[in-house]
Formats: sequence, structure tokens, C-alpha cells
Amino acid sequence: MAEEGAADRRADILVVGSVALDTVETPFGKAEEVVGGSAVYFGAAASLFGRVQLVGVVGDDYPLDRLAFLHERGADLSGLEVAEGRSFRWSGVYEYDLNARRTLSTELGVFADFEPTVPASFRTARWIFLGNIDPALQLRVLDQVDEPRLVACDTMNYWIERDRDALLELLGRIDMLVINDAEARELSEDHNLARAARWILERGPRHVVIKKGEHGAVLFHEDGVFFVPGFPLEEIFDPTGAGDAFAGGLLGQLARADSLREAELRRAVVFGCALGSFACEAFGPGRLGDLSLHEVGARVQSFLEMTRFEHEMPARA
Ligand code: AMP
Repeated sequence: MAEEGAADRRADILVVGSVALDTVETPFGKAEEVVGGSAVYFGAAASLFGRVQLVGVVGDDYPLDRLAFLHERGADLSGLEVAEGRSFRWSGVYEYDLNARRTLSTELGVFADFEPTVPASFRTARWIFLGNIDPALQLRVLDQVDEPRLVACDTMNYWIERDRDALLELLGRIDMLVINDAEARELSEDHNLARAARWILERGPRHVVIKKGEHGAVLFHEDGVFFVPGFPLEEIFDPTGAGDAFAGGLLGQLARADSLREAELRRAVVFGCALGSFACEAFGPGRLGDLSLHEVGARVQSFLEMTRFEHEMPARA
């Protein structure tokens, strides 16, 4: 958290995405109209690492006080417009296989007519996350920023099916696509993830990170492939927002390290998996809101222990 009164010297991380009211049902409970959306989950995670600058819109029915935890972490919400009308609402249900989510409804509300304006003080942000939202809006945000070091982007089936052309244009303008396995298959029209990743890399981004829910994530780029498992949580309440929290941990750690070296990219994917796992521990972004960097570091350490092993190549017979 930014210290009261002290200048916050952390890197600026700009995010545009949905700011939502979510209604979610899992085998373990139900939550109605909790604050959520890609920008909120991303911001909740990334604000542990840097100064989040959020661009989005809510309707005049939105409980803004429930975003106070973002302010407390030093996030700048001056790019969050309050428009007349209803806020974005999403509802979904998870069956026992928590990797399979069914969307029950998506109400765009004020997002339908949203024209994003990036405040002047946000335009120099070097780390940018185009969270899941209409790709046309993601493109318009990109037109308003100066010289970012890294532009990462997420999307989902809803947009792949409705605005594929804008998405393909976007691929040519970003550095990293962070996407889940089902979406990578749908976008590339190929069931094989290694080929799907190559298909995406051929369309522009230098890095593709494929999220595999409870099975972790895979980074594909020209330096090769890097796998991280999912953290073996014994209790999962709600996986909503895990993908965005993953992206927040990933970009946050890169911004904090101020580096895109291979070793830092790998470490950042582990931070992503750690943040994604914390997101599942409660309904809504609450667990991310009260998380400390120390707890995150301890979970990253346990990833190291979970995956370390010894091996010697057997001598040739
Ligand atoms: P994740 O579980 O990380 O994929 O993200 C879940 C969040 O995405 C929820 O908080 C929803 O409000 C938000 N969401 C769901 N559908 C959409 C959509 N079509 N566009 C933007 N955000 C969405």
C-alpha cells in the first residue's frame, strides 16, 4: 500500500476494462451484485505492485464506496466516468468443474455508449492492460497513450464472437495477449494450444500467455515455452476474476521489476498464478483487497518449492 503522505514512486499501470456488478453462483454459494469486472479485479491485484490508473465507466447506480480499497492502495480512479444509466452487469454459474463457466447474462448498460477518455496524467503510463471489454474500446484507449513499454490485452468469447475484426486489428498493436485456453482455441480455430499460441504470435504479439484455470498458465514466445502449475488450493469459493487478478500480478510484477528479461517474464507468470489463486478464495475481490505483498511472496516461494526437482541425464549406454 502507498504510504500516507509519502510520494508514491511505484510505476504507473494503466488499465481499461469493465467495472461491473456480478451475480455469481458456484457449488459453494451465491453472491448477488458484488463489485467486479476486469478492471476491478486487475486493479485489486496490480495495486499491490504499482500505481494503478483506471479507465472505465459505471452507471449512476454503482456503489462507488465499495471501490474504496483501490483508493487505499493508491489507485487513481479519476478515469472512471459516472454516466447516467445502468452499470454493466454480468451473471454466471459454475458447476462442479470450476473451470467450466456458463454466462447467464451480460448487460452492457453504460458500456454500450462509452467513449473512453484517457486523462492527460495517465497517458505516459508505461505498463498498460487492456482488460476484457469491447475490442473497439481497447483500440481507442491505445490511440491515446504515448510510448508504453508493454501493452497486454485480454478478451473473452463474448468479444471473439461479436467483434473478431477489431480483435485481429488489436493483435497487431499489442505486445502480449493474456487469454484462457478455451478462448485461444476459439480465436485461432485450432484445438491444439501450442498451435493456437503460434497462430496468435504470427498475428503480432511477442508473448502469449494462456491461462488454464486451476491447471496454471503457459507462456509462449520466441524464447520458448514456460509452464506454471495452478496452486493446489483446498478450498475454492469463486474463480470469477482469477484471470484478471492473474494479469494484475503478471503486469504488476513486470512493472515493479521494470524489466522484460526472460527471467523476469517467467517470474511474473508465477506472480500471476499466485494472484489468480488468491482471487478464488472469496466471492468478489475482497481477498485481493486485504492481501499483503508478503503473503504473495510466500505463495510465490511455495511455487518454487512445488516445481523444483533434481535430474541428471543418464550416461549413454
Ligand atoms: P475472469 O473470471 O477473470 O475471466 O473475469 C470475470 C469478470 O469479467 C467478471 O467480474 C465480469 O464482470 C467480467 N465480464 C464478464 N463478461 C464480460 C464481457 N463480455 N466484457 C467485459 N467484462 C466481462
